[in-house]
Formats: sequence, structure tokens, C-alpha cells
Amino acid sequence: MNILIIGSGGRESAFAYKLSKSPRLDQLFIAPGNAGTGAYGQNVNIKVTDFEAIASFVLENAIQMVLVGPEEPLVKGIHDYFLNREDLKNIPVIGPQQEGAQLEGSKDFSKQFMDRHGVPTAASRSFDADSLAEGLVYLESQKLPIVLKADGLAAGKGVLICETLEDAKAELKAMIADSKFGEASRVVVVEEFLKGIELSVFVLTDGNSYKVLPSAKDYKRIGEGDTGLNTGGMGSISPVPFADETFLNKVEERIIKPTVEGLKKDGIPYKGFIFIGLMNVDGEPYVIEYNVRMGDPETESVLPRIESDLLDLLEGVAQGNLDQRSYTVSPKTAVTVMLVAGGYPGAYESGKEIANIENVKESIVFQAGTKEQDGKVVTAGGRVIAVTTLQDSLFEALQQATADAGRIYFEGKYFRRDIGFDLI
Ligand code: ATP
Repeated sequence: MNILIIGSGGRESAFAYKLSKSPRLDQLFIAPGNAGTGAYGQNVNIKVTDFEAIASFVLENAIQMVLVGPEEPLVKGIHDYFLNREDLKNIPVIGPQQEGAQLEGSKDFSKQFMDRHGVPTAASRSFDADSLAEGLVYLESQKLPIVLKADGLAAGKGVLICETLEDAKAELKAMIADSKFGEASRVVVVEEFLKGIELSVFVLTDGNSYKVLPSAKDYKRIGEGDTGLNTGGMGSISPVPFADETFLNKVEERIIKPTVEGLKKDGIPYKGFIFIGLMNVDGEPYVIEYNVRMGDPETESVLPRIESDLLDLLEGVAQGNLDQRSYTVSPKTAVTVMLVAGGYPGAYESGKEIANIENVKESIVFQAGTKEQDGKVVTAGGRVIAVTTLQDSLFEALQQATADAGRIYFEGKYFRRDIGFDLI
């Protein structure tokens, strides 16, 4: 089978790595990919939202499946674009259509979806310019801290946790009346604060049946001990030790089943990944958010643990017979450590030569923000390389991933040495 992966990060590197192991893969292309994905397939210089260029490439290269990595093309309707074109409609796209992508694209939509289908989540109400005055009064009746969320996509920055009533009121006004996050904060979800520990569960569904993929926990803050600014993710581990069988059974019964059934009841076709961000509150799971694609860097620790042929599972999604595909997971622990450019998540420099990748022998190196320049691999983004190790125990995996992260060199390199240590 010929497959096109859309995206360029560590997540897409992990997809390319895993698909390249399938005995049924013929040709693999990655658009646009990075300096590392070229080892698994052929990079194609097309932007992830240039649907016309993607379509032409698909037709010219006899692509038989398109796997979409990031949310932006999904929310902008890449799947619908394929279905609406006579010459493309039979080429399966893995990733939901625009309506299903609203689960991530609109927090108001996803909260209404959860309420409609009885999925446990924090209590909330949504406000817009017409109901702003009501929203300010509503805030007075709420406990602190309180969470304000811009309805639309705001590059991970649209969620504010307010400690005081004054702050909450000022922020609600700024978001709605002063368009703090542009169109994304035209509607704001005001949500109860949940105190607990976060983790993510991933589901692959063909719209009817589903497979629960390994759970993972990511580390968002730039500093060790989970301090400092938020980032796209500094590392991840899988499985999550505190997500034991009892907890995961609750997640499946109370969250995964009603979510997949809810999509069906609402008549929303969905073929792809669902990333469920959860809060474990005293052993009870609550949904913090849905994403309509895999996480990054969670994918880098989840996919290496899947023993089955990913291509076979994706084909099951495309053909609507996922329940007939075999699926096994390694009991080993995966740890992913992200190497970032100095200064990230603030301003950082690019174009730094990366050395010693070949010295990493015990871990998998997933390139992310890298590109080739004059025959050399150089940095081309804030998050540069993800290093993933699979070992028998979390402790061994942490030691190995940290040691291997140290083996790679580029000017300004930084990584956290404590990914997962809080769970040992
Ligand atoms: P991301 O890009 O990180 O996925 P997002 O913009 O989609 O973020 P959310 O995931 O909904 O937004 O929220 C971001 C973070 O804010 C969460 O990971 C969590 O730490 C915190 N958070 C969100 N909702 C709540 C809540 N109700 N109670 C406590 N913390 C919350």
C-alpha cells in the first residue's frame, strides 16, 4: 500500500517509523516531513493545509491512504475535501471530517457533546458578547480557582486558570469584548477547576468499534519539577503507572463507549484517532478535553509499544472492520525525552548543526524540528528531537532515555532530566 502522512513533527516521525515496519507497505511519503522522516520514506514539500497540492500528489503517486497528523488540516476540512471530490472520494483519509473535528476545534461543542452523552467532565457554561454581563454575574457564584477557555483553537494558549474573582472578570471581558484570542475567544467556556493528576488515553475508531491504545502522560512545563512556561510537551511516558486496570475500566465504560456511541447517535462519522485528555480526581476520570488526532510527544511513546501492524489497524479503520484486526501491546515502559532549542518556548535560534545522532544505540530518535541544509541536519524549530526508549521498568527507561538524550549535541540544546521521576 502507498501511504501519505501529513505533518512534520516528532509525531509524524513516529508514524513513519511504525508504518515503515509494516510488511504491507509499498511506498511511504511524508508532507512536508523533516530531516529524519526521509529515513522511512520520501519527503514531499507540500504544506499541510494546501489541499489542492496534496490532492494532485495523491493522484499522481497512486496514494491509497492519507494519514493526517496535526489538527489544523482536519479542522479546516481535509477529509471533507477528499469526500467531495469524485476523483478522491475512494481514497481513505485517517482523521475525522470537519464536524467530528469540532470536538477539538470548539470547546463549547465538545462540552455540549459531553453533557448530551453523559460523559463526566467539569461543570461549565459558555458565554459570548450577548451574555457577557450574565457571565460576569455567574463568575461571582463560582468557586475559585476558575478556568476560562477560549472556544476555538488558540495554539494551546487559550486556557486561563484564574485565582481571584477580579482576575476572572477582567480576563472574561478581555477574551470576549477585547478579542484577546481573536475569533477563538468570541465564545468562552467558564469551567469548574478540577484538582487531580492528568493523563491521556488514545482511541482509534472506525466509527463503530474501537481499540484503546496505550495511555500516556506528558510533561508540559519547560522546567524540571514541572515549573516555568508551558510548551508543546517536553516528554512523555507510557503506560501511566497510576492508570491501573480499575481506573482504565472506568475510562472505557464511562468515557470511551459513550463517546463513540455519542458520535454515532449524533450522526457524526468518525474515522481516526481520539485523544482524550483526562483528570484523575481521587480515582475518578473526568474529561478535560478531546483532541481529534494523536498527541505530540505522546505518540512517540505510545506507538513503539504497539506490537501489531499499524497499517493493518488503519486499514481496519478505512474499511470499517477494525474489530476484526489483531491488536497487541508490549508490557514494557516507554519514556520519551524532548530535546529543545535554547530559549524555547520563547525566542530561539534555528540552523544549529545537530551531531552524534548515530551514537544513540539503545533508543529511537524521532526528529521533529529539523531540516537538511548543505548535507547536514540542522535545527529548524523549538522542539528538535524526541528520544524514546522502551525498557522493562520505568526507572530503566528513564535512565536510558536521559543518557541517550545527552549523547546528541547541538548548540543551546536543553532537555528535562526528570521526565517520569514524579511517578517512581
Ligand atoms: P493543549 O494545547 O495543552 O491541549 P488546550 O488549549 O486544548 O490545551 P485544555 O487541554 O482544555 O486546552 O487545557 C489546557 C490545560 O489547562 C490542561 O492540560 C490542564 O492542565 C488545564 N485545565 C484545563 N481545564 C481544567 C480544569 N477544568 N481544571 C483544572 N485544570 C484544567
